[in-house]
Amino acid sequence: MPKLLLDRAKTLEPRNPNKSTGLFGGESSGILNWNDIAYPHWYKMYKRLVGNYWQADEVNMSSDVKQFSALSAEERDAYLKIIGLLSTLDAPQTRTALLLSLYATDPSVQSIMAVIAQQEAVHNESYSYVLSSVVSLDEQNESFQLGRKDPVLLKRNEHLMAQYNAFVEEPSLENILKTLVYTALLEGMFFYSGFAFFYNLARNNKMVGTSTMISYINRDELEHGRFIAELFRATLAEHPDHNTPEFVNWVYDHFQQSVELEIEWSSYVLADVDGIDLDEMAGYIKYRANKMLRIMGLDEVYSEHVDNPMKWIRAYVDNFDGTKTDFFEQKSRQYTKTSDLNGFDDL
Ligand code: ZN
Ligand code: ZN
Repeated sequence: MPKLLLDRAKTLEPRNPNKSTGLFGGESSGILNWNDIAYPHWYKMYKRLVGNYWQADEVNMSSDVKQFSALSAEERDAYLKIIGLLSTLDAPQTRTALLLSLYATDPSVQSIMAVIAQQEAVHNESYSYVLSSVVSLDEQNESFQLGRKDPVLLKRNEHLMAQYNAFVEEPSLENILKTLVYTALLEGMFFYSGFAFFYNLARNNKMVGTSTMISYINRDELEHGRFIAELFRATLAEHPDHNTPEFVNWVYDHFQQSVELEIEWSSYVLADVDGIDLDEMAGYIKYRANKMLRIMGLDEVYSEHVDNPMKWIRAYVDNFDGTKTDFFEQKSRQYTKTSDLNGFDDL
């Protein structure tokens, strides 16, 4: 199939209709009326995203500052490595959300991507914030060097990086669809072994400030994953010529490859951490992959992992429906409005 490159969407083009004629490669004036968009239910997604607003320095790190030195050497090492990993996910995601927006010819997608990009920027900031609370500048810098130097992390990120950069070089519809697949993996699977490490600390009453922050990031990523999966499905439905067995097999292959790399990474970084069972973690990773495939309109590939094998994790995110007390009780969540839009995906 020839790779036709897409033009970047026009910023304002009054000759085009306000309601977009296509998500990518379509026409729209650039004027956004949320009551006249091609996919009306995306307004709810936008509202949920905006409703999750938070900032890094709202999280109180004072008990973490005291506790960090009391962690085991293995826990401290994993803590720094996992923050290093998370920074390699949120940094490219800030920019990829922008790049997708530049080619999206639907102004509702542009606005949603703007909010996602803003949240990824906050996630990045939060890693600097927590590290600066608990370790010296030298150790902070070392943690942020891991994405450039750690061979297991580099291997794990290699395919994501290749696809994200391919989209920059060649903004074809095919590369947009493949980038959405990797974005779904990132938002819906790549973060989660890292999140689990912090929740495991929290259930042992360790580093609760960091885990609170991680749970806010987690909540954002679940919403991002949900939107990206919808965007993927809608884009594929608009371009049935791309919905070929070859492409669908590519998606399954890359999901399976990503799961294997994620299991390898988690076995490496969590090997000596008390309280995490690596087989259970592998099952959790497969469960997350299944979940993303399902919301992308595809079939699950791990039939034995349709249920969450790490049920204890749910306690750390399920309390975001606005009706219960924040599990961590770190701060009042004044930004979160209780509304019927604030439903929450289970992990
Ligand atoms: Zn993020
Ligand atoms: Zn995200």
